[in-house]
Amino acid sequence: MALIVQKYGGTSVANLDRIRKVAKRIIRVYSAGNDVVVVLSAMAGVTDSLIQLAHQITNDPNRRELDVLLATGEQTTVSLLCIMLESMGCPAISLLGHQAEIVTDRAFGQARIVGIHATRIKELLTRRKIVAVAGFQGRDQEGNITTLGRGGSDTSAVALAAALKADVCEIYTNVDGVYTTDPNLCKDAKKLHKIAYDEMLEMASLGAKVLQSRAVEFAKKFGVPVHVRSSFVEEEGTMVVEEEDMERLVVSGITYTKDEARITLTKVPDRPGIASTIFTRIAEAGIVVDMIIQNTRKGGLTDLTFTVPKDDYRKAMAIQKEVAKSIGAEQVLGDEHIAKVSVIGVGMRSHSGVAAKMFTVLAKENINITMISTSEIKISCVIEEKYTELAVRVLHHAFGLDSP
Ligand code: ASP
Ligand code: MG
Repeated sequence: MALIVQKYGGTSVANLDRIRKVAKRIIRVYSAGNDVVVVLSAMAGVTDSLIQLAHQITNDPNRRELDVLLATGEQTTVSLLCIMLESMGCPAISLLGHQAEIVTDRAFGQARIVGIHATRIKELLTRRKIVAVAGFQGRDQEGNITTLGRGGSDTSAVALAAALKADVCEIYTNVDGVYTTDPNLCKDAKKLHKIAYDEMLEMASLGAKVLQSRAVEFAKKFGVPVHVRSSFVEEEGTMVVEEEDMERLVVSGITYTKDEARITLTKVPDRPGIASTIFTRIAEAGIVVDMIIQNTRKGGLTDLTFTVPKDDYRKAMAIQKEVAKSIGAEQVLGDEHIAKVSVIGVGMRSHSGVAAKMFTVLAKENINITMISTSEIKISCVIEEKYTELAVRVLHHAFGLDSP
């Protein structure tokens, strides 16, 4: 007998028919003798509509009240699931975030979990109840309802699995696992049986929307085995595990994002304080910078290039035009049509030559690399957006990911 935490995303509970299917799946696992804690998201689209509703009143809704509002999405699904389970003759009880004692800081809209007192859940499990916990929400020390940021029910599930020392945390989503690359772009993409926490983290932060990054951080910190799978099929998905449990592959996946834009300041005076001015202004505007490159040139002038989210591109350009004037830089150049292609794998820690291989593969296709950044387990190249698909396919092949 095992203790299993299952999380179902918005598409898996989008309507009563889906909720019925989910209930059947839960009953199967429960009837086999396992203890089951279920964490749910709101029905697909509901969180978005609630946000829109509040924004019809004002652009800047009161943050505490917005969390009270958003938490209703998950309240709806946990109660419906329990009504469904009970109607099928299965003992179930729903708990909202505060009832499950998921305690967070008080950063409304992006709260972090600081602790979970799982005594009530444990007691309910010993009474053989199926416990359905509303994902995405908790309460702060004063009892205010908080939410954990978009996609936050992944984090609720992993945190509960950690607190309960569950045997596994199953994340049911609308994809059936983590792939070597985007199957929509590359028909040879393969489902990975296993992926290391760090690889999953890189993939999540690079835009693979399978799991919320915070959930992966949590899983890694507490060693929670996470199983990403689909509620629409029976097959196993992908296990997110400790690095030691991985087979030694050098590269596990190729990702890409078209969500960034590039900004270059030319002929920037090369002296202390300049980079600080440039990036302080950007940070003050709440813009997150990703890659940064600075060259040294003769004559005390340098070019400085960085990337920002495409959504912030216009704002960032406007700011940099002012900054350029104030620091005496020559020009501000921008490019929205870029893509960042990344090669990810924990095997890179012990293999050299991965970067060289990546550059060679791209060069063979005549794809120009304009920026490069690396971490211990990732190499990213910025290229022209129109070559994204080609780059992903040739890299996928070159690193042997086509063959299972
Ligand atoms: N319902 C929330 C959202 O849409 C939380 C989640 O789905 O994980 O972001
Ligand atoms: Mg979601």
